Amino acid sequence: MSTVALVRCTSYRDDEVDAAVRRGLDLLGGALRFVRPGESVVLKPNLLVGREAERAVTTHPSVFRAVARALGDAGVRLSYGDSPGFGRTENVAGRAGIADVARELAIPVADFGSGETVSFPDGHLIKQFTIAHGVLDADGLVSIAKLKTHGLTRLTGAIKNQFGCIPGMLKAEFHARLPNADLFSQMLVDLNLLLRPRLSVVDGIVAMEGNGPQSGRPRSMNVILLSADPVALDATICRLIDLDPRLVAPIAYGEAFGLGSAKAIDVVGDPVDGFVVPDFDVQRSSRATAGRPGRVGRIARCLIVPRPVIRSEACTRCGTCVRVCPVTPKGVEFAANGSPPAHHYDRCIRCYCCQELCPEGAIEVDVPPLGRLIHR
Ligand code: SF4
Ligand code: SF4
Repeated sequence: MSTVALVRCTSYRDDEVDAAVRRGLDLLGGALRFVRPGESVVLKPNLLVGREAERAVTTHPSVFRAVARALGDAGVRLSYGDSPGFGRTENVAGRAGIADVARELAIPVADFGSGETVSFPDGHLIKQFTIAHGVLDADGLVSIAKLKTHGLTRLTGAIKNQFGCIPGMLKAEFHARLPNADLFSQMLVDLNLLLRPRLSVVDGIVAMEGNGPQSGRPRSMNVILLSADPVALDATICRLIDLDPRLVAPIAYGEAFGLGSAKAIDVVGDPVDGFVVPDFDVQRSSRATAGRPGRVGRIARCLIVPRPVIRSEACTRCGTCVRVCPVTPKGVEFAANGSPPAHHYDRCIRCYCCQELCPEGAIEVDVPPLGRLIHR
């Protein structure tokens, strides 16, 4: 039985968030259940790209501050970092308001730009990872994630947050090598089994629905979740947004590979019923996944699997989508005539990196007509 603390928090006012995080930790047995005085702990917020905290793209600095204070009071030495989808950690943290808090609390930024190869023979799919030095140098990892929708995994919460422990462009390589939600999620679970975050905290005070994880709409959920079990935590998020957890591949593989429990969960704190948002805008259809090999697989992918679509009126032609596309030849390219980039759906593996990182929110995930019929 895993325990998840569910704590109401209706604003990002420092005193309210501080009290909510401390209450959540108390409900789980106190901070000293997760850390020991004198240890070094790296905090891993979600710093996908540099956006203001109000956009709900990144972990809110108030939540980061509250967790840092609580663990600091427990006597640990803290550092923080993330490997963003785009840009340098310091710059992204600065725009998100996290760097100011870190300066105020004298928490140094850890090295998430370079890493070291770590063998993981127990991995179910991946036997070797390159992990950021900032994570390897610390005694423990505490994840401070954001509750958001995601093109590939539907949901990004506790489990997916560890992907930022892989430095730089190595993340894009995983997208190219693991071209569907099932394989990608197996990798995420192996990564969690290797890193074993001591504690996961998810900022759901204002979540993101719709075209996440960067371009969706902020949605107030008024909740902070805490757990030692990232699978149980993400499964509890599914209850809050009325989504079948079996549709979220990281949860399904997380349970299958023994990372945690999606069913035997003791929710403590405030009652789940008070937070359920049944109309939360998230991908709910059971859909085929991309990446099956061969010609038939490619045809099926084009006809059924949701695909990234560019809204040309919103495109500024910045070229981010082309740069981040991990396949060769590119699945999205500029035409010679100066118009917005266009997708080559026969090459595109549906990793949704372009949709995730388009700074204008100009790329949406669209289900082809046949896919809509099948998954109605
Ligand atoms: S990333 Fe977005 S705005 Fe930039 S070129 Fe691609 S579609 Fe246009
Ligand atoms: S075009 Fe977009 S979704 Fe397709 S492979 Fe490239 S980044 Fe991934």
